[in-house]
Amino acid sequence: AYETVNGLSREARDFIGKRDHRMLVGGLWVDSGSGRTLDVINPATEEVISRVPAGDAKDVDLAVQAASCAFESGSWPKMTPMDRERLLLRLADLVEQNAQAMAEIESIDNGKPATIAKAVDVTLSIAFLRYMAGWATKIEGSTVDVSVPFVPGGSFNAYTRREPVGVVAAIVAWNFPLMLACWKLGPALATGCTVVLKPAEQTPLSALYLGKLIEEAGYPPGVVNIVTGDGISAGAPLTTHPLVNKITFTGSTEVGKLIGKAAMDNMARVTLELGGKSPVIVLDDCDPVVAAAGAANAIFFNQGQTCCAGSRLYVPKRQFDRVVSGIADAANALKIGPGLEAATQLGPLVSREQMERVCNYIDIGRQQGAEIVAGGARAGEKGYFVKPTVIIGAHQTTRVVQEEIFGPVLVALPYDDLDEVAARANDTPYGLGASIWSNDLSKVHQLIPKIKAGTVWVNCHNVLDPAVPFGGFKLSGFGREMGKAALDAYLETKSVVMAI
Ligand code: NAD
Repeated sequence: AYETVNGLSREARDFIGKRDHRMLVGGLWVDSGSGRTLDVINPATEEVISRVPAGDAKDVDLAVQAASCAFESGSWPKMTPMDRERLLLRLADLVEQNAQAMAEIESIDNGKPATIAKAVDVTLSIAFLRYMAGWATKIEGSTVDVSVPFVPGGSFNAYTRREPVGVVAAIVAWNFPLMLACWKLGPALATGCTVVLKPAEQTPLSALYLGKLIEEAGYPPGVVNIVTGDGISAGAPLTTHPLVNKITFTGSTEVGKLIGKAAMDNMARVTLELGGKSPVIVLDDCDPVVAAAGAANAIFFNQGQTCCAGSRLYVPKRQFDRVVSGIADAANALKIGPGLEAATQLGPLVSREQMERVCNYIDIGRQQGAEIVAGGARAGEKGYFVKPTVIIGAHQTTRVVQEEIFGPVLVALPYDDLDEVAARANDTPYGLGASIWSNDLSKVHQLIPKIKAGTVWVNCHNVLDPAVPFGGFKLSGFGREMGKAALDAYLETKSVVMAI
C-alpha cells in the first residue's frame, strides 16, 4: 500500500522510505510497548507513506522517567551555559545542513508547499534555535538589598537564582510541526530542562527526523525524548504525569482548556498557544490593491491553517467591493497542487477530517445567509484540497465570523467607523493576532491599544521573529513564546537569603 514518492531528495526519500519508524525514549529508538502503529498519510494523494509507533501511557511513563533521570543525573545537569549554547548551535547547523530534506518531509507529511516549508518553517526553526542558544549564557538572577525588620541588627545577603523548571512535556499541533517543536525545544534546552515531545499524530515525521539530528548534535540520552501517538493515548498521559514539571502546548483552545486543568492538579507550569480568529482591519486611506494583496496573504498562507491567520477582514463600506474583488481574483489565481511540485502555491489541507471540517464551515456560512464570492468547495476528488474561499454577507454573530475555521476561508465584513471596527475586531472569544492596514499614523496609534490581541501587525500580517514575544489574549492562550519572555516560562526563581 506504500506510494512510490517521486521528486524527493535522496535524504528525504531514505528517511520516509524507512516506513516503520521508531520513537526516541531514553536515547533508544523504540517501538511502542503495545506494538501498535499509526499510519502517516500524504494529504496530496491520500496514500500511506510511513508508519509510526502509537505510544500510550506506558511509553509516556518510560519517556518521562528517562527525562527525569537525565535532568537529575548524568552529564546534562553538569553542563555549563556555554555547553548548552554550543549544543543548540550545533543542532541549528544540522537542521540547516538538512534543510532541503526537512522541507520535503514537512511537505509530504503536512501538505504545505516544500518551497514555503524551506523558506519559512525550516528557516524560522534554525533562526529560533540560534536565538535561544544565545540566551543560554545570559540567564541571570539579581542581588537584593534586604532590611528584614524583625531581626534588628541582623545582616543578610539575598539574591535570586534562575533554575530550569525540570521535565517539560511539549505537545504540538500539525500546522507547523518542525517550527512548533523548535519553539518548545529551544528555550527548554537553553535553560537546561529535559523534554518529552509529542508531535501531532497527523505529522510526526519531521520531529522524528529532528530526533536523529538531536542525537547527532551530541545531546545526552534522555534529554530529548519523542513519543508519537494520538492525543488521548499519548498526549493526555503526558499532561497528568506527576514527574512533569511544565507543559507547553500548541493546539486547539478546546484541548488547551483540558491541559490547563490537568496541569493544575500537579501544579505543573503551563504555556498554552491556542486558536485564533484574527482580524485584518483596512483603514480608509489604504490603497485597495495593497489591502487585497495583504489580506489574501494573511489568510491563504499555509492553506489558512495558521493560528494567527487573518480570517476576518474589515473594510470601510466605500472600498469594500474593490478590496473583496481583488482578494477573490487573488484566490482564483492561486496554483493549487501537491506540495512537492515547484509551482504549487496552495497545497492540500492536512487531513480528510480537516478538509471536511472546513467544507462544513463553508456550508454553515451558506445556511446562515452568507454568499460565497470565490472558491466554496473541495478542489478535485483526490487529496484534501479546498479552494481558497471568500465569504461576504455574513452577520457578525454567525459561526463563520465567530469560530476558528482553520482553512483557506476568509470572511469579509464592511464597517463604518473606527470605534465600530475596534469593537467588532474584539468581538470573538479569541485574541491572538490582528493587522491594521494604513499609513495614517494617528488612526493606527488610536487603534493599537484598543485591539485585544497578543500581536498587532501594521501593514503586514503573520510576520514572526524569534526575538518578538508571541501568544494570545483571551481564549487564544496563556503565556508567551519567543523573545526573552519564552525563556522565563522554563525557569523557576529561587531566592537565597544568607545570614552573615
Ligand atoms: P489539537 O488541540 O486537536 O491537537 C494538538 C495536539 O494536542 C496534538 O499533538 C494532539 O495529539 C494533542 N492532543 C489532543 N487531545 C489531547 C488531550 N486530551 N490531551 C493532551 N494532548 C492532546 O489541535 P489541532 O487541531 O491539531 O491543531 C490546530 C489548532 O492549533 C488550532 O486551533 C490552531 O489555532 C492551534 N495553533 C495555535 C498556535 C499558537 O501559537 N497559538 C500555533 C499553531 C496552531
